Amino acid sequence: MQLDEFGIPAAAHLIGGKWIEARDTLPLTDPSTGLAMTRIGKGGPAEIDAAVAAAHAARAGDWGRMTATERGRVLSRLGRLVETHSEALTRLEAADVGKPLTQARADALALARYMEFYGGAADKVMGETIPYLDGYTVYTLREPHGVTGHIIPWNYPMQIIGRSVGAALAMGNACVLKPAEEACLTALAFAQLALEAGLPPGALNVVTGLGAEAGAALSAHPGVQHISFTGSVATGARIQAAAAQNVVPVTLELGGKSPQVVFADADLDRALPFLVNAGIQNAGQTCSASSRILVERPVYDELRERMAAAYGALKVGPATDDLNVGPLISERQLGIVNDLLELGSDLNVAGRGVLAPGAPSAGNYAIPTLFADVPPDHRLARDEIFGPVQVMIPFDTEVEAIAIANGTDYGLVASVWTADGGRQMRLAKAIRSGQIFINNYGAGGGVELPFGGVGKSGHGREKGFEALYGFSTLKTVAAWHG
Ligand code: NAP
Ligand code: MG
Repeated sequence: MQLDEFGIPAAAHLIGGKWIEARDTLPLTDPSTGLAMTRIGKGGPAEIDAAVAAAHAARAGDWGRMTATERGRVLSRLGRLVETHSEALTRLEAADVGKPLTQARADALALARYMEFYGGAADKVMGETIPYLDGYTVYTLREPHGVTGHIIPWNYPMQIIGRSVGAALAMGNACVLKPAEEACLTALAFAQLALEAGLPPGALNVVTGLGAEAGAALSAHPGVQHISFTGSVATGARIQAAAAQNVVPVTLELGGKSPQVVFADADLDRALPFLVNAGIQNAGQTCSASSRILVERPVYDELRERMAAAYGALKVGPATDDLNVGPLISERQLGIVNDLLELGSDLNVAGRGVLAPGAPSAGNYAIPTLFADVPPDHRLARDEIFGPVQVMIPFDTEVEAIAIANGTDYGLVASVWTADGGRQMRLAKAIRSGQIFINNYGAGGGVELPFGGVGKSGHGREKGFEALYGFSTLKTVAAWHG
């Protein structure tokens, strides 16, 4: 079984530092082949209750007593362990998510880097002293929320664990993690490595299972003091409503329809690989995927031809073949993407990728598709697709480009391609988005860079130092001493 290398069973929950055999199980499928891989635990309210109790016990015990420096050392050790086991994690993620090996490896190394970053940051979060009335000394303390819930999706399990669990642990919270039903093996492996790194029992608990059962129980649990969620808008809204009953803060990261805006003076040679990769990475199942390419009219035809040629060279196949594009996560996701593609039957297809000969017929393969000349109000130019699909939209003026860029309900990431410095600054201000990239897209994914959305893309920030503020609360102490 795939978790053998980590010495743990797949059908178990980690609660209070112990692997508890699951009472109920669910099948896990390899999206590259459609074949059953193993069975995972199907946890529900009882397991969530036990996990939340274990997290509180950890806060009241060894974990709560650790100094920030000690917490940082545990996370740093964990980062090194993740790195040591990165090839095993890569194979697990490739099998579970269907991610081509190179992309899965990048995620494993990003997880290690998150632990390195948050390990180093743990003892560098400080309060301040505030000048106040005569006879007073006033200062602030940054304190953990307590027990934090983490509900994560299947598209980037390792990266999302890194950015949310990593920051929460750095601040001294105890975590309950509910990974996605379709991809949870690296979450289990990571939790085992955390124990080996010396994380006290109960500081990180993992309950696998269905969203409607384990996820709903976690988001509604009165013992949880903060919830971090990444996934769909509909589920995010449900989680926020559940958290509201307990009046606890939530961080929501809900995807997007991120534009790249290409002006006629842009360096197209540099831009081309960014424009395409940002759309097809992880088969387009990326919250920050760039699914809209806005192009100034004088270079539109040239860029359409070059992007079409790039699409023609895209190969789709099993994760282990390490091609450009792997399968989608599930038959259900393939159905969602194919239904959306149907909506494009009235559009011009400028380019398509190629299914590798020999790709298993039961794999969930979507063929990368580039649509050209798409009206900005077309549903394919407004709805998140979460598959390897991009639309090209021509524009004539800067004002029009900004209006189109801002013309969806989302605002997660955007990029601007131009050599004009003034235009770079104007668009960076005018586009409604959590991150803006100038003459690049994603900046290599930097764990240091605060990340999150506006509008239906969500609220709150993860990654970077900013996440440490989100995963903590501020206490003001005013002492009168005369
Ligand atoms: P989802 O429903 O938002 O699932 C994300 C996580 O929430 C999973 O762990 C899921 O558990 C859990 N969940 C589901 N229902 C829940 C509930 N009522 N209470 C608490 N937790 C719950 O997303 P999906 O169904 O996998 O994907 C559907 C669409 O969401 C995609 O097509 C895409 O548009 C979007 N999406 C966005 C992101 C992103 O990165 N922003 C990631 C994934 C999906 P289960 O896995 O057991 O359902
Ligand atoms: Mg799977």
